[in-house]
Amino acid sequence: MTRDSIPAEIKRAVLVEAGHRCAIPTCRATTTEIAHIVPWAETHDNSFGNLISLCPNCHTRFDQKKEIDRLAIKMYKSNLGILNNRYGEFERRLFEVLAKSGDRVFVLGTAGDLLVANAIKDGFFEDKKVDGGTFFVQGSNGFAKHFPTTFTYWVTDAGVEFIRRFADGADIS
Ligand SMILES: [Zn+2]
Repeated sequence: MTRDSIPAEIKRAVLVEAGHRCAIPTCRATTTEIAHIVPWAETHDNSFGNLISLCPNCHTRFDQKKEIDRLAIKMYKSNLGILNNRYGEFERRLFEVLAKSGDRVFVLGTAGDLLVANAIKDGFFEDKKVDGGTFFVQGSNGFAKHFPTTFTYWVTDAGVEFIRRFADGADIS
């Protein structure tokens, strides 16, 4: 087996795991390469667990310049698994955006409460019930309800800490 003989289904799974982006949360570039976490020369390990999607720039910083160490790459890999199981695509993108902006408040539109339901369950965001728009539905059967069309959330201290750990590649388990 050679370095280049990574089976197509494993390559695909590694790319899907990171959403066809660089696995480093503060980068997330869309040009991707498959990187070995433990170098091919050391273990000849082409398994899913030893592979991670990185952009060419981060790949060079890891493999050649040693600016990103192996432990950090292992943490990014481990966090990908946790994030994919626990949070939806929208939540993962939101964590990336908040990691970059550092914002403590954000506003979502209709069904925003469903989009961040898991992160709210984990105590990372708080709905302070700021008055926003509503959509009033009244049915002939007597049904009547105001559905909120905007949701304003505060990032809690736990949320700030989680997003910092996520962005730094620290353990989020
Ligand atoms: Zn990158």
